[in-house]
Amino acid sequence: MTMVRIYTCPNCGAKRIYKAGTNELVCESCGTKALISTITVDMEAGAAQGVKTGSDAISATKECSTIKCPGCNADVELPDAAAAVKCGFCDNTIVIDSRFSGPYRPARILPFKISEKEAKDHFRRWKNSGPLTPKSFREATAQKVNGCYVPFWLYDYEVRISMTVNAARTEKTTQNNAERTTTESYEVVREALAVYKDVPVVASKNYPEMAMKILEPYDYKDFQTFTSPYIAGYTAERYSMTADELRENVQADLKRDAEEATKATITGYDKLNVTESNTTFQNERVENVLLPVYKLDYEYRGRKYPIFMNGQTGEIQGELPKSKLKALLWFLIPFAAVFLITMILGLVLTKPESQSFFRQWYAWLIFGGIAGLLAMLITFAKQGGSGPYDHRNYMENRKVQVLSSKDTMTERKVTQRDLKK
Ligand SMILES: [Zn+2]
Ligand SMILES: [Zn+2]
Repeated sequence: MTMVRIYTCPNCGAKRIYKAGTNELVCESCGTKALISTITVDMEAGAAQGVKTGSDAISATKECSTIKCPGCNADVELPDAAAAVKCGFCDNTIVIDSRFSGPYRPARILPFKISEKEAKDHFRRWKNSGPLTPKSFREATAQKVNGCYVPFWLYDYEVRISMTVNAARTEKTTQNNAERTTTESYEVVREALAVYKDVPVVASKNYPEMAMKILEPYDYKDFQTFTSPYIAGYTAERYSMTADELRENVQADLKRDAEEATKATITGYDKLNVTESNTTFQNERVENVLLPVYKLDYEYRGRKYPIFMNGQTGEIQGELPKSKLKALLWFLIPFAAVFLITMILGLVLTKPESQSFFRQWYAWLIFGGIAGLLAMLITFAKQGGSGPYDHRNYMENRKVQVLSSKDTMTERKVTQRDLKK
C-alpha cells in the first residue's frame, strides 16, 4: 500500500520545512535540524521517525478529489496533476506517494535556493520597477506566493545536420582607372554534429511554456537524487504531458538552432542561401525531473498578472501593467523640451528673413517628435524586462562540430567598369 506523508518534528511534533539552499529539514517551532540524507523515505516501507503517514485513499467525485491530511485529518483538495499539496488548515505539505510512483517517479530534484521570504522581496522589488508601471499597481498587494516543484523533461540529443548552401562573394578592385568586380559562386556542403544535453521542457499544463523558458537557465550542479523531504514546505506536481507528446516540439526547436549554428560555420561569403538541409536525431535520452518555481498572481483591474520566478536563481518572468498616462507623459515631456530647445536655437541662430530649415515650425515638430518617440521606445523596452531564450545554453561548447566541409566554385564572373569618363 502506498500512502501520504507529512514531515513533522520528532522532537516537538510541529511542521518541518526544507530550508532553501541547504540539505536540511528544520522545525519551524523548536528549530531542530535534520540532514535530509538521514531521513528514510522508502516509499513502500512507510513511517520513519518524524514522518507521519496516512492512507492515500483518494475520495474522488466528478469535480475534484480530496485527501485526508495525516496531520489534522482535514479534507484537502487534490488537483489532478498535484503530487504534493499544502493543507489549508495545518499548513503541512502532504506528499502523495502514489502520484510519484512507477513511471511518475522523478529521477532528480533541484531544490529551492531562494526562500519564500526572499521570493516575496524579489517580487515586491520587481512590482515597483518599470517606468510605465501605474502607481496603483505598485500599491497592489500580492496574493500568497506558491513555491512549486514543476515537472520538466530533460532531453539529450545528438543532432546531425547535412546542409547545402549556395554562397557568393563579391570583390571590387580598382586598377588603372578601371573598377573590376569579381563575383564567385560556390556550392557549400557542411556536415555537422550538435550535441545537446539536458534541454528542459516543462511537462505541466499549469505553467506556460514560454514563461518557463524565460526563467532558464538553471544551474544543474545543484541537482539531487529525488527524495520527497525537499518538498516539505512547498508543493509539487507530477507530469501531465508525456515525453512522447513533447518530443516533436523540442526537436523542432533544436533543428532550428542546430541549423543556425551550422550556418554560422560557413564564413568568408557575403551571401548564403540554404537550398537543402537534413537533420537526424540520435541517441535520445529523456529524464523526468522537478525544478523549483515560485508563482504569484497580482490581480489588477480585473486582470490577473501571473508572475513566475526561478526558485534557484531568482530570475523573474511576468508582465507589468502599463499606465497610458505615464506612456503619454514619457512622449510629451521630451517632445515639448526638444521642440522648445530647437525653436529657441532656430530663432536665435538664424536671421529673421532666413529661410533656414531650423526656423520652420515643422522642423521643431520633427525634432520634438523624434525625441518623444525615442523616449517612449526606451521606456517600453525597460518595461519588458525579460531576457531572450537561448538553446545554445544546452549545446556542448555552444557550437557544432564540423564533420566535413566542401566548398566548390560553380561560377566566376568578372565585370569591368571604366571610371575615367
Ligand atoms: Zn520541533
Ligand atoms: Zn492538515
